[in-house]
Amino acid sequence: MIKTVEPSGVILKDICDIQTEKCVAKDSPAAITAVWYSPGRKQVNVCRACLDEMVRRGEWEVKGARLKHRADIVIFDPKGKVKLIAEVKKISLKEKSAQRRASEIRRNLLVHSGIPNTPFFLVAFPDNFYLWKEDISDIYDKPADYRFDAKNTIDNYADKKEVSPLEMSERDFEFLVSDWLKDLVNAKSPEDSLEWATKSGLYDAIRDGSVAIEVALQ
Ligand SMILES: [Zn+2]
Repeated sequence: MIKTVEPSGVILKDICDIQTEKCVAKDSPAAITAVWYSPGRKQVNVCRACLDEMVRRGEWEVKGARLKHRADIVIFDPKGKVKLIAEVKKISLKEKSAQRRASEIRRNLLVHSGIPNTPFFLVAFPDNFYLWKEDISDIYDKPADYRFDAKNTIDNYADKKEVSPLEMSERDFEFLVSDWLKDLVNAKSPEDSLEWATKSGLYDAIRDGSVAIEVALQ
C-alpha cells in the first residue's frame, strides 16, 4: 500500500534512511528532509533523490506537495502535444491486485506529482498493461478503461533484445515498453492483436508521433 509522508520542513545534513539506488546521501551526509510517516508519525530522513524515487515507484505519496516528476515514457503527437504518459513498473502481481495497484499509481501521479491528465495514461507491468482515456470528470480512482495482456508481447520484445524477462532490470523493461510503443506509433495499420489500441482511439492519437523516455513535465 502507498504510504503517505508529510515533510516536516526540517532539512538537515545526515545519511539517508531510504537509500534507493538513486540515493545522494548514502555514505556521506548530505541534505536530507525529515518526513513523517502516517499513521504513527514515525520520522524518516530522506534525501531528495530518494523522495522522488519513492513517489515515482508509487510507494509514497507526499501530503500537500507537488513534486517535479519525470514521466517514464511520453508520446508526443506530430505537433508536439503530449498524448500519452506511461508509468513502467517491473512488478508482478496477480491480475486483481495489479489492477488496483495500477489505479493507485495513476491517482498518485495525477494528484500529487503535477502530472497533467493527458488523453491517454498507461501503467505497464510485465504481465499487464492498463490504459485510461482522459475524461473530464477527473475521478482519479477510476479503474483502467482497457487491460492488455502483455506477457507474450514483453516476452517477444525481450527475445529480440536478448534480455531475460525474469532477470531484466526496471530500466530494461522501460526500454522494452518504449520499443513496443515506438512500433505502435509507426505501425502502418494496427494489427488484430492490438484491437484495443484501435478501439480506444490510442492508435489514431499517437500515429506518427514520437516516443521519449524520462521526461520532466513541469
Ligand atoms: Zn537517499
